[in-house]
Amino acid sequence: MGTDRKTHGPATAAVHAGAPEPTPGAPVVPPVFQSATFYGGHGDDAAGLMYTRYGNNPNQQMIAEKLAALEGTEAALMLASGMGATAMTFLAALPHGGHIAASRHLYGATEALLSDELSARGYGVSYVDPDSRESWLQGVRPETKVLFMEVPTNPTLRVFDPRIPAAIAREIGAILVVDATFASPINMRVASLGADAVIHSATKYLGGHSDLIAGVVSGTNELIESVRNMMKLYGPSPDPHTAWLLDRGLRTLALRMEVHNRNAMTVAAWFEAQEGVARVFYPGLGTHPDHSLASEIMSGFGGMVSIVLEGGASAADLFTTKLRLAAVAPSLGGVETLVSQPRHTSHARLSREDREARGIPDGFVRISVGVEDSADLIRDFAQALDIAG
Ligand code: PLP
Repeated sequence: MGTDRKTHGPATAAVHAGAPEPTPGAPVVPPVFQSATFYGGHGDDAAGLMYTRYGNNPNQQMIAEKLAALEGTEAALMLASGMGATAMTFLAALPHGGHIAASRHLYGATEALLSDELSARGYGVSYVDPDSRESWLQGVRPETKVLFMEVPTNPTLRVFDPRIPAAIAREIGAILVVDATFASPINMRVASLGADAVIHSATKYLGGHSDLIAGVVSGTNELIESVRNMMKLYGPSPDPHTAWLLDRGLRTLALRMEVHNRNAMTVAAWFEAQEGVARVFYPGLGTHPDHSLASEIMSGFGGMVSIVLEGGASAADLFTTKLRLAAVAPSLGGVETLVSQPRHTSHARLSREDREARGIPDGFVRISVGVEDSADLIRDFAQALDIAG
């Protein structure tokens, strides 16, 4: 449809962008086009063929238009998972023997994709400290085609400045790809900070209800067409029903983020005042190392809060076991509050020493703060902390 991308705000785009023009008798909510293929194909124009693996099913197209409007990019593409979006973007951007310079602070599976998978297939990878221009410059090589980072990072919620690698990418003829899953396009528009491609695990805030697996990538028409080509060949295309569910989730993205932002701030400030809590990580707190940068480049600090319990691993195990409202589960960004310990999940393959070196000591608990009443959440955290702290 018809949202005016220049004047409409993100909440409006999240509801309306990509929807068909309203005509009398048409359904207000677009149906699921649960079809693998579409009539057509006469003549020579293979480019016009509609086939759900190609990402041009109407449900997939609606998501693509909505995401492009939300990110302020020319185009976007929905894929079958966040990992699918990341992998296909790397393959699209890397020529044979190409090299990626990546931030050291990455989601575990993305790091495994780079270090174990792409490296074994002849791509070069080096890791950098993302807040240092010198480190990025040391990390790039003549064959570097992709600079890659996450903002904010998992699970320490560091906020690094995408403008530093964006400038270097311009200088060397590479692209900057940013995974902004933890921010959502409501809290940060990374393309406006110089990212050439923005990736989200749509499984998290975009879907928002922990009931789908999907990914999206936004960028220029040219880049998105190359990613689409990879999706066509490798096949991680989303099912139409998942696209429909994602559209349903996106309609409430702006209002959900408002509550996630508010609840997380309340919960983080509360934890900071509790005995037995050694550290609280939340970019909205004045004690966070990146608070001033986060205040500059984010319009909300997000729904993720991490804490370190003084009692270490046993205290964290007890604390998470005693929670009654918040549940222990991996993943994040849904309406319900979930907690996890990186030493059992994303960072399980690292030694204790390696985790500590990354700022994740035993006792570290990551909290995806949901949209429940914050007073109920705090009561739940308080009773568990009383036992564990
Ligand atoms: N990027 C980040 C920052 C994540 O946290 C995750 C999943 O937790 C992914 C990417 C992968 O997303 P998916 O599980 O949708 O493949």
